[in-house]
Amino acid sequence: MPMSKSRVLIVDDDITTISLIADALSVDYEVLVATEAKEGLTLAAFSKPDLILLDVMLPGTSGFSLCRQLKSNEQTFNIPVIFVSALAEAKEQTRGFELGAVDYITKPIELSTLRARVRTHTRLYKQTLQLESLAATDALTGLANRRKFDECLAKEIERGVRAQSDISVLMVDIDDFKAYNDRYGHGKGDDCLIQVARVIKDVARRCSDLVCRLGGEEFGIILGETERSGAMTIAEAIIKQFNIKKIEHRAATTEQYLTVSIGATSLKLTPELYHVIDARQLVDTADEALYEAKSLGRNKVNFHPFIIGDHKKIS
Ligand code: GH3
Ligand code: MG
Ligand code: MG
Repeated sequence: MPMSKSRVLIVDDDITTISLIADALSVDYEVLVATEAKEGLTLAAFSKPDLILLDVMLPGTSGFSLCRQLKSNEQTFNIPVIFVSALAEAKEQTRGFELGAVDYITKPIELSTLRARVRTHTRLYKQTLQLESLAATDALTGLANRRKFDECLAKEIERGVRAQSDISVLMVDIDDFKAYNDRYGHGKGDDCLIQVARVIKDVARRCSDLVCRLGGEEFGIILGETERSGAMTIAEAIIKQFNIKKIEHRAATTEQYLTVSIGATSLKLTPELYHVIDARQLVDTADEALYEAKSLGRNKVNFHPFIIGDHKKIS
């Protein structure tokens, strides 16, 4: 598959400069243009460029101030910014770097230098994005990993506290998986984990649902804006899928096929909870529910309400 072109956003109010840069880059890059700061901010957030070439002097504002805004916005803060300016003094350049720019190009623009710097920084940025994505992914199943789970749960709690919404967490654990490995071998066990990941992901597929492999044969699901009944519906649907699919597992103790057990918990988030709860406590509660589901016979969902004050307060 051919690599898609990197996208470069030019924010400049001078038409001559814009066409000069655009002409130099348009063969190798997808070029977007904004002629004022506000438009630049919007385009940066929505079109996700791989690089921004930012003029220092813009009508009514400065590129420095726009850079500060870009760096404080969650959607744009990591996009590399190169300042393009006629201000060649070291003081101005230092200011640009202090604001988080990766490079500074002075006018008159030397086109081969511009192309080389754009190539370097778009490549670096793409590599960074690839590494970030790898670091958040479980290599076997392609699901998000525990690191991503922890990060998203903390974020979802923070968001939910502001929006006063519900949150639910499900812990899914394959039943008798050790026996599966012993019977069918570790390789088949790995294939089975991939299959299980797919089944779970097919059920919990709203964009606000995050399905992760937490490790071994345990999966975690974060259900944003979901209260108890919604969480139970999803959990029951997962259990049901395994009872329909009947993936062979002759060494299972409950059925003759592969089943999972699920622990669930839910919580209505309110601003008062901000300093009181942390993500770990939700996970622990769902884990306790899972443990009980196992002792109740496996192949079932067990819900434990989240009780505030039942956990140690965090400082
Ligand atoms: P329970 O029903 O109580 O959950 O029993 P279990 O056998 O599923 O649980 P236990 O924690 O005793 O064993 C988990 C097994 O999962 C042990 C290990 O062989 C297997 N396992 C963990 N990670 C992997 C993996 O990446 N690949 C494979 N094939 N097996 C794994
Ligand atoms: Mg298990
Ligand atoms: Mg386990």
